[in-house]
Amino acid sequence: MGIITWSRIRSPWLLHFNTGGCNGCDIEVLATLTPRYDLERFGCLLKGSPRHADVMVVTGPVTRQVRDRLIRVYEQMPEPKFVVAVGACACSGGVFQGCYNVYPGLDAVLPVDAYIPGCPPKPEAIINGVAALLAKLEGRL
Ligand code: SF4
Repeated sequence: MGIITWSRIRSPWLLHFNTGGCNGCDIEVLATLTPRYDLERFGCLLKGSPRHADVMVVTGPVTRQVRDRLIRVYEQMPEPKFVVAVGACACSGGVFQGCYNVYPGLDAVLPVDAYIPGCPPKPEAIINGVAALLAKLEGRL
């Protein structure tokens, strides 16, 4: 493994994108970042700008209204970039599945590298999903 890949895997910077869900998943994502669950031990850092982020963490259902904004923000992230769907809404539309204005999951709009199901998923599940993504990047999965 080259040093660039090594450093990339050990310092994934996150961009949190809420598509307009109920905020349950967002609270769990933020709880995961607190010292109690300490996601930062994997080198994760929450960033406010897509230009500084490697991983887009998406919560909430992808609606027709948010689709273009989501894609625009995704395109602003530098390559290589990765997407994690957090919660049932982002994974599959969740309770909004079948609504006229909701896509049947984030992967209908963006390429998704990891799915973390749950409504909302617990911090332990989010940590597990992030660890699985990093293991996948390292070629261990
Ligand atoms: S998966 Fe559940 S907790 Fe998360 S945004 Fe959807 S309804 Fe809210």
